[in-house]
Amino acid sequence: MRKTADAAQGLARKGLALFESARYAEALRAFSKASSLEPGRCAWTLLSQAACHIALEAPLKALAALERHEHFHPGTSEKAVGALRGEARRQAVAARLMSPALAPGLHWKPGLRTSLRLQALVERATNIYAEIEYATVREGLREIGFVNLRPADPLVKRLERDGLSLRRLVRVKTYTGFAHHHVPAAEGDPNSWEHTVIGRDPRRLDEVHRLFQRGLDGPGHARLGVLLGFPPCCIAFFGRIWYDRQMWDPIFEAGLNTRGKRRGPVPGGAQVTVSGHPYCNTLLRYAGLRLASWLPCSLRCPETIARAQAWVDLGRRIDGRAVDSLLEVLALPLTWRCAGGEARVEAEGFFVNAASYCPPEVKVVRWSAG
Ligand SMILES: [Zn+2]
Repeated sequence: MRKTADAAQGLARKGLALFESARYAEALRAFSKASSLEPGRCAWTLLSQAACHIALEAPLKALAALERHEHFHPGTSEKAVGALRGEARRQAVAARLMSPALAPGLHWKPGLRTSLRLQALVERATNIYAEIEYATVREGLREIGFVNLRPADPLVKRLERDGLSLRRLVRVKTYTGFAHHHVPAAEGDPNSWEHTVIGRDPRRLDEVHRLFQRGLDGPGHARLGVLLGFPPCCIAFFGRIWYDRQMWDPIFEAGLNTRGKRRGPVPGGAQVTVSGHPYCNTLLRYAGLRLASWLPCSLRCPETIARAQAWVDLGRRIDGRAVDSLLEVLALPLTWRCAGGEARVEAEGFFVNAASYCPPEVKVVRWSAG
């Protein structure tokens, strides 16, 4: 009996390693053998089901199996599950069964202009930002970061492993894309997150907890900006534009601050044409596509470029290809238009729609990288 279990375990380990190196057919064979030796181990059954669906090019079924696996066995075999999920998504995107936009609010334009290459690019770019943002705290590039924790979130274990602490701040309603304030939620609300601060030094987390308890005012926001590693010029800009003047989506204002910009009229408002730096491009942030986690004071802010370079270097150590994809997406020509509580960002093959604020007139930013 013991021997059978050992053999099954050995096969499962081999299967996981094969998944990680994207050798799905061989992994599937190893897992099928393991499952036949120990039919009761549902974690393996679900992983082998997922691999089987990938082999049969049924990516949505594979993703469903992976979802069940994650539900029943959160945080186990993370790398293997990541590899399988990546392959399933790649197949699903290639077959146009799903949008790579994990990216909330990102829509592909109908028609043939949307190349598969662009879809793959956005797909690869989408996940890396969250990884980099987390790593900057883990590696000490900044003192704190914010995360939204779900019930039984596997991130809690990861924080422990990385020697980071957390302090839960407030329970808020879930949202996608963009939010300029948190809507409080009741304990036990299934559509809620716990807005949480993470970091290495518990004293800093206590300080943030106190700031939240007191209610965030201008100086409180500025202090958070320092702890979050934001540049002083951008903290000052945020205080002036976002906090004092309640312009919650200040892309146009950053455009106006950009060296070499050109300002002109559009029906019902104004536009600014800029040549910006990809590191300062937060036009697509509603869809999670960004590099700097703050709102830069200009679309060529030198301090942002310098700090974001350290983030890029760190990101390259995690996944260089994904970072290149992200930078390529952030260098695409874009038109950002904000009016009536909605922002719409147009690229050649896709657009992003997101809730924004209501400026008194139409605001447009024509962006290109240069
Ligand atoms: Zn700045």
